[in-house]
Amino acid sequence: MSRSIAVFVLGLVILGASAASQALELTGPLSQGALVRGQVAPGSEVRLNGDPVRVTDDGRFVLGFDRNAELRQQLTVLAPDGSRRQKTLTLAERDYRVQRIDGVPGRTVTPSEEHLARIRQEASQVREVRDTDSSLTGFLGDFIWPASGRITGVYGSQRIYNGEPRSPHYGIDIAAPAGAPVVAPADGVVTLAEPDLFYSGGTLIIDHGFGVSSTFLHLSGFEVTVGQRVRQGDRVARVGSSGRSTGPHLDWRMNWYQVRVDPNTVAPAPTAGHTP
Ligand SMILES: [Zn+2]
Repeated sequence: MSRSIAVFVLGLVILGASAASQALELTGPLSQGALVRGQVAPGSEVRLNGDPVRVTDDGRFVLGFDRNAELRQQLTVLAPDGSRRQKTLTLAERDYRVQRIDGVPGRTVTPSEEHLARIRQEASQVREVRDTDSSLTGFLGDFIWPASGRITGVYGSQRIYNGEPRSPHYGIDIAAPAGAPVVAPADGVVTLAEPDLFYSGGTLIIDHGFGVSSTFLHLSGFEVTVGQRVRQGDRVARVGSSGRSTGPHLDWRMNWYQVRVDPNTVAPAPTAGHTP
């Protein structure tokens, strides 16, 4: 009698453990352009379409989906007990708007050969910084908006400069006066502070960990330097109109490594009259 109770109790514990090892929680919209945070049992391995994803010791991770991501994504969780769970994520397809911008300086619409060399060099510098794979965990917290103002550009829109179609816009544009403060949307470390890139002018990148970074474009100045640790809400830069810009605004971009994601999927737009 007492022996059968012991077996029964042991059975329950094993069942409980195997259910916990299968736990998978995702936070964020499942759509193209989204940054999605997740939780699995500590010690689990996570793979997205077969590629390993970095996981914290307590089982937290983050995924990013680009503008035109495949709508079906395979997520695999290998639990510490050896069990394996395969889940197909179905992303919502997004509809992007077309935005026409006229009066942009001609040299930035069709750059010369000499400018092209500089553009390529700067792109590879930015790419390298966005490959940063640190163990910072700023990406786990809630993000705040880095500036206050009217939204004048959104993620994913197809841009047409002086009548010529160009690559889509990947940031959120926030209209703000030159010199207005830009604050860190989450904790992190400054990984790039370049005063004069060809397209993006004054450019600052903050690493939030696990491949998640924020990039701020067209700045007029910096309040921080490369390597500096910042806390959410710290002043990091000043709004400007440098690079390919038609007026003072902040262009805020977010990446998961090289994948460009929509900041709006992490920090929903403040409602009118209630900007941070
Ligand atoms: Zn922009």
